[in-house]
Amino acid sequence: MNTSYSARKKDPLSTSEEDPIRSEDRRFGPSTRAVHGDWRRNPYHAIAEPVVQAATYSFENTADLRDFMEARLWGKENGRIDYGRYGNPTVSAVENRLARLEGAEAGILFASGMAAITSVLIAMLPTGTNLVITDDCYRRTREFCNTFLKRLGISCTVVPMGNYEAMEDAIQPDTRLLLSESPTNPYLRTLDLIRFAEIARKKKVKSIVDATFATPLNIQPISLGVDLVVHSATKYLGGHNDLLAGIVAGEAGLIASLRNALGVLGGIADPSNAALLLRGLKTLALRITQQNKNGQAIAEFLESHSKIEKVWYPGLPSHPDHQVAKQQMKGFGGVVSFTVIGDLDTTSSFIDALQIPFIAPSFGGVETLIEQPALMSFYELSPAERLAVGIPGNLVRLSLGIEDVDDLIADLDHALTQI
Ligand code: PLP
Repeated sequence: MNTSYSARKKDPLSTSEEDPIRSEDRRFGPSTRAVHGDWRRNPYHAIAEPVVQAATYSFENTADLRDFMEARLWGKENGRIDYGRYGNPTVSAVENRLARLEGAEAGILFASGMAAITSVLIAMLPTGTNLVITDDCYRRTREFCNTFLKRLGISCTVVPMGNYEAMEDAIQPDTRLLLSESPTNPYLRTLDLIRFAEIARKKKVKSIVDATFATPLNIQPISLGVDLVVHSATKYLGGHNDLLAGIVAGEAGLIASLRNALGVLGGIADPSNAALLLRGLKTLALRITQQNKNGQAIAEFLESHSKIEKVWYPGLPSHPDHQVAKQQMKGFGGVVSFTVIGDLDTTSSFIDALQIPFIAPSFGGVETLIEQPALMSFYELSPAERLAVGIPGNLVRLSLGIEDVDDLIADLDHALTQI
């Protein structure tokens, strides 16, 4: 039996003389690419990717081992793996599929979104260098920069999201990376990625965007000039609240050096999780289409409701980044943030009166989740401290799933009448 993954499925539409895999990327839409990946058959011709649950791999004989070692020595692939920390066929299938969805040359899967972010930063920032990040980044990312990186002698400059002059001015001769998220949490601030990438290029630093909230269906940062895109695949990419994973995609050479770092740092993805992620990806386009629709409809409903103070959603003209989101995004996602008229307790009463959403952290799965950030991520802060970081008690983050929008609106409407 052919045990390699190199035999390509027959592509009936293929007429091109150029690299067939890359030309397919351009010809097929995101849903086709999410379902078919890189058009390679696995050795069993199974439609669902086999889970290769293996820690180590054997060689036929010493000659076989030598072939493998020579190929590795010269930085070439010979289709073999020796050890699970350096590669896995199920994990590779996800990496290829996600890279193609991002329009990137290569991708690399990590154990979680945080494993992806921390590994990339450690790998790319030598001691004595500096990183510039925007202030609305994921709390744990900022915590990592301000504690662990600091201990390693790497400084971090925080600039206000949306202030591009401050971003450019903050880049000093020792700066190596410019990192932001888009859209951000919880206010869905949306970066002008073209401008962001231009600043990085002009200043000769690498640019990285955590596009977890957007997914490659709504924005493709690489095509706008960004060097690396990061996702917590735990969210929309997996889509079912049943796995944790992280992905980084970008230029092949950069990803190869990150893969070397991953072999040392060890935050690798589990093959079973990779298989779950592959399954989730097959319905990514369907789910995102529904979540974009639900997001827009619920944001409009809430904005017109008398018990709601303010709504943040990039698809609303009232959002500060609506124009740039309209220009650069295909859809505005499934997360809507809003403040209820009233205090923290009034807001909790509204949440407790809801029937459909689960009270839970995270977002991006098929189930609608709701949280009061003051009582979830920011619980340990006093009300004054929370206000100082922009988290009032009446703030709600609603992460829409794929339920019927009329049901969600009726549920929200009913709960709002209870306060
Ligand atoms: N990036 C963003 C924008 C997130 O919201 C999160 C988690 O909430 C992460 C990264 C970390 O991802 P994970 O929970 O998969 O480690």
